[in-house]
Amino acid sequence: MASKAHAIMIALPYQGHITPLINLATKLASKGFVITFVHLEFIHQMMLSQSRDNTIQPDLFSGARESGLDIRYETISDGFPLEFDRALHTDEYWESMLSDFPHRVDELVTEIIRANPCSAHFLVTDTLYTWPAEIAKKHNLVNVSFWTEPALVFSLAYHIDLLTENGHFPCKDHVEEEIKYLPGIESISTKDLMPYLKESAIGTTVHKIETRAFQQVKKADFILHNTVQEFESSTLSALNKHQPNYAIGPVNFSKNLGTNYAVSNSLWSEHDCTHWLEHKPPGSVLYISFGSLVEISKQLVEEIAYGLLLSEVDFIWVVRGDSFDSLMDNLRVESKEKGLIIPWCDQIRVLSDPAIGGFFTHCGWNSILESMWCGVPMICYPLEYDQPTNRKLVVDDWKIGISLCDYGISVDRKEVAKKIKKVMSGDLKHEVKKVNRILVDALDAVGSSERNFDQFTKDLRAKLFVSE
Ligand code: UDP
Repeated sequence: MASKAHAIMIALPYQGHITPLINLATKLASKGFVITFVHLEFIHQMMLSQSRDNTIQPDLFSGARESGLDIRYETISDGFPLEFDRALHTDEYWESMLSDFPHRVDELVTEIIRANPCSAHFLVTDTLYTWPAEIAKKHNLVNVSFWTEPALVFSLAYHIDLLTENGHFPCKDHVEEEIKYLPGIESISTKDLMPYLKESAIGTTVHKIETRAFQQVKKADFILHNTVQEFESSTLSALNKHQPNYAIGPVNFSKNLGTNYAVSNSLWSEHDCTHWLEHKPPGSVLYISFGSLVEISKQLVEEIAYGLLLSEVDFIWVVRGDSFDSLMDNLRVESKEKGLIIPWCDQIRVLSDPAIGGFFTHCGWNSILESMWCGVPMICYPLEYDQPTNRKLVVDDWKIGISLCDYGISVDRKEVAKKIKKVMSGDLKHEVKKVNRILVDALDAVGSSERNFDQFTKDLRAKLFVSE
């Protein structure tokens, strides 16, 4: 007879997916589940090499284990040498992740199950993986899919058949129409659809991953969403007619992730901005970041730089890589003590500093949740993936941010300066406060996310131990 419920959790190798899965792992462990958390080998090495004080030795869950949580840790190879530049060769990398990686997962899952014979195993994986249903079926595992973007984005991808029937998939690149037939979504313009649903994206790697992943998720037993029910209730209710969906977010801020369980999860070493921020008045600094993934153009960087100077606002700008070194050197000289340009930081720590008055963001879902959590209004400049759709929620629905310009339009420095001044003016304060309250309340002991999580664990246990 199986005695313990045991989750095998496999992370997707991107910062915006890793952090919520790690927090979900500690959240599940704190409810008494045994966890085997699996990182890709190169991610493990990246985390080790940036951890200056060895806080993640021997692995990132050491502290959580010392606090009594049963979280084991494994790594898996993606088949590429550690030094292979995965970002530079995305297509080659993902071709292999689609064809070869599932076999590696299959072998690892076989081993993990063999090593833990007395457990009721279940699989928890990122929805964007393209193999969970097959692996779960082969090993007879309950299959939990974890979605790290808004339910709106999930629902659009989930209803691709309806979009196809109505001629909106593939969506013509320059046609603008309102879509009003999707269950639980009152109305959305084709301009706000994810770019991978557009005609020009057919056959791209992102398109392949998304379509295969959404065939798989339809076979999941449970779907967890890193969102808040109050924000997306009709979308979630409509999805619930097909499969059990639970809004449990934002997991990164869950209260039961006590400080003892805190795990370091950053892929790059963090610049400490605390001292610099100490000297700035409340609400006076704009924070700028385009997340961990998207590439930005020289034109965009130039226009933001000049826009910042025109606005005369103090700023912290996260600029990854060295492509814009000379531009940044000039900006450092011109902005003097008004600007801090850094390669990476602890974003939540920066956003929660009272000196921060606005966030210029690419609209990654984690960044949006973090901004909402810290009560910071946003300037939105979405570029890829779910970002244009996320923008609709922030600007049109929740009114806690403004758009820099229409999607796909080149940015102009005067517009940048104008929008910076607007977001820093405090105009959006009222709505930001309202949304922040809902988010904080959702994670309260009796809040919707905690209740949904408890319901999920109850339903999960019932399914795992159904035959006992
Ligand atoms: N982030 C960070 N330091 C930085 C920039 C970003 O820790 O200097 C984190 C941020 O807090 C967020 C994640 O990286 O949790 C980015 O995820 P998001 O979904 O916003 O965007 P993505 O990187 O997936 O495009």
